[in-house]
Amino acid sequence: MLGDGQLGAMLRDAGRRLGVDVETLNPEPAETSQAWAPRGHAIITAEREHWPDNGFTRNLQAEPGWLNAAAFAALTDRQSQKALLDALQLPTAQWCQVTAEADLQSLRAALNGEFLLKRRRGGYDGRGQWRSQTADGEGMPDWHDEAIAERCIDFSTELSLIGARDAQGNMVFYELTENFHAGGILQISLMQPGRFARWQREAEFYHARLMSHLQYQGVLAIEFFLTDAGLLINEVAPRVHNSGHWTLAGASVDQFEMHLRAISGLPLVTPMQPGCSVMVNVIGRAVDPACLTLPGTRLHWYGKQERAGRKLGHLNFFHPEAGHAAEWLRQLPLDAVFAESRERALRALVGDCPE
Ligand code: ATP
Ligand code: MG
Repeated sequence: MLGDGQLGAMLRDAGRRLGVDVETLNPEPAETSQAWAPRGHAIITAEREHWPDNGFTRNLQAEPGWLNAAAFAALTDRQSQKALLDALQLPTAQWCQVTAEADLQSLRAALNGEFLLKRRRGGYDGRGQWRSQTADGEGMPDWHDEAIAERCIDFSTELSLIGARDAQGNMVFYELTENFHAGGILQISLMQPGRFARWQREAEFYHARLMSHLQYQGVLAIEFFLTDAGLLINEVAPRVHNSGHWTLAGASVDQFEMHLRAISGLPLVTPMQPGCSVMVNVIGRAVDPACLTLPGTRLHWYGKQERAGRKLGHLNFFHPEAGHAAEWLRQLPLDAVFAESRERALRALVGDCPE
């Protein structure tokens, strides 16, 4: 597995359970033994979509067991990702390329209103983004020519779909997950069986079209906006995804095991997802141990240094009944920055499906 962050660690855990030997590799040459060589017929995938271009990562991608080269080539740059979505006629927020000469007025005109600049590479958790509404006299940031521009979307909520495909083209999907962000960072994910049944087939259709086109193997995640005009794809990640962490508690096969099954020829099944799952990210500082007094709570700690805005772990809880899950979420001691996401998630747990 190229990459050795928390996703790699959770993939290793899944491998231990399954009896699949998973080795995670730091892409920095100083950290990785230069002597590393695949043993037997290693299958190589990645738990991240960006890595430094060095001798080690180039050699890895030259291995016969390196999967998903086409997906990484198309998806890791937002511009080629958007171009592919357009070519496959998959609905996405209106966007355009940004030249060095582009200015606020020309981009507003091209996109019929306010827009976001998103760096083509390397952005995450809302980093590498800039909103035209916040423009002052300075104009656009100096990295605008390394970005795409995307129209600001009005959406009722954000959803994601995690799916997997194997070498034979078999595909399976989880239920749509609802995601609550603040400041560009995912705070809470929620999965309630059937809540977005109305959108499930359409989301799977888009997901399947993309994975089939790329001949993709493994788990892939698509983030959507739910808008008046239906589903719009926000972005695609060719890997296991934060919004799928709830599957560790609420699905009979979690996304990490599903990825390993998909790439190693083990059976793919649509997992049982029999109740309400809630995932809360631990961001910036250590979790309050009082969280663990709630009987349904399971903590996954990543062992990283505390730093503002950094994802340090996540809490999962699962209950067959939404009311119980809501009660636990209400009681969870969380920082004030979670207040709005928690309110929205609680409304979702006890309320109607947004149109
Ligand atoms: P991630 O952590 O998922 O990798 P990211 O930094 O790559 O995030 P996006 O998913 O593109 O970036 O954007 C982060 C959040 O910003 C979205 O989840 C959404 O809340 C908001 N956002 C992104 N694009 C738009 C848009 N076109 N209109 C309105 N809000 C948007
Ligand atoms: Mg995102």
